[in-house]
Amino acid sequence: VSRDVIAAMTAYTLELREAEVKLNQNESPFDLPRALKDEILARVVERPWNIYPDFESMALRSALATAYGYQPENVLVGNGSNELLAAAIGAFVGPGTPVVFSKPTFSLYEKLVTVANGRPIPIAVDPASGVLPLDELLGAVERETNAVVIVCSPNNPTGGVLPAGGVDALLATGATVLFDRAYGDFALDALPPLHDRLVTFSTFSKAWGLAGMRVGWLASTAATCREIRKVKLPYSLNIISEAIAATALQHQELRVANVTRTIAERTRVFAAIHAIDGVTPYPSQANFIAFTSKIAAKPLFEALFAYDILIRDVSAAVPNALRVSIGSREENDRFLAALGEIMREEAPR
Ligand code: PMP
Repeated sequence: VSRDVIAAMTAYTLELREAEVKLNQNESPFDLPRALKDEILARVVERPWNIYPDFESMALRSALATAYGYQPENVLVGNGSNELLAAAIGAFVGPGTPVVFSKPTFSLYEKLVTVANGRPIPIAVDPASGVLPLDELLGAVERETNAVVIVCSPNNPTGGVLPAGGVDALLATGATVLFDRAYGDFALDALPPLHDRLVTFSTFSKAWGLAGMRVGWLASTAATCREIRKVKLPYSLNIISEAIAATALQHQELRVANVTRTIAERTRVFAAIHAIDGVTPYPSQANFIAFTSKIAAKPLFEALFAYDILIRDVSAAVPNALRVSIGSREENDRFLAALGEIMREEAPR
């Protein structure tokens, strides 16, 4: 039998359904151009596949360091940022370690903390505010000794961000800060300066449109990277994904174009949802919008699915809320049209 804490946990889950319009996982609607894919694969075909990847992942770490103004020793890469979150939590959270995070937030954090026998300290987020509750997070951190705080900004699934100066304020308490900026590009954020007690997690899965390649990275001081590396699995990133991510970094214009289009669509979709009677969107700086309506979350989810539109039911985390990813213009239009029709049919006549 598994350990008690594991037996009491639920697995990370997802509604396994298929639909023509897939707006349930905050993926990018924009794939890498076919010509670029072909070019990268042609290079990868020439490399030996029977040989392990470079132990240090130097090519990708150097490319990231150059792109973001770091040294390679400030960067670790992994099989998605999920892997690096697990490694960092493994490095910083032990039995009884107090770990402060907003609730709701990305559900993986609490699971990893639970596996590590840490002590989760959830702090309620008001999704309507558009910001994370910095004062309450600070208060919770200050009540503990040697706390770890995990911040997701913009926050999944609510979309709000940490107020300006939030990272510095949290660091000033003496806490270790794990800062997940998976959606940071969509908030036009800047990476904070390095600090021994700060780890910043980024991903190629969102703004870069490379979720299928599973590449994430973290940044911290060389000393902190060395500690996390003791926990991380060796060779977790394969040569194909590594080459794809390194090449993508030479095409920042692709990321910028994705971000620009997504932000423009987010603004349009927010206004359009807001204009539908009976629906309330929550402010978001990410590539998704959470919203509630006068119809309960589950029947509305099913009604949209009947239109072949798959979004995410987040009502277990945010009362009565659904979350829709920002897709292509056409996908967003299909979603908005369906939502409008469903709400009109619901209207009392
Ligand atoms: N952090 C957050 C907040 C996320 O929402 C996600 C994706 N759902 C991840 C990290 C995971 O990213 P990756 O694909 O890099 O593992």
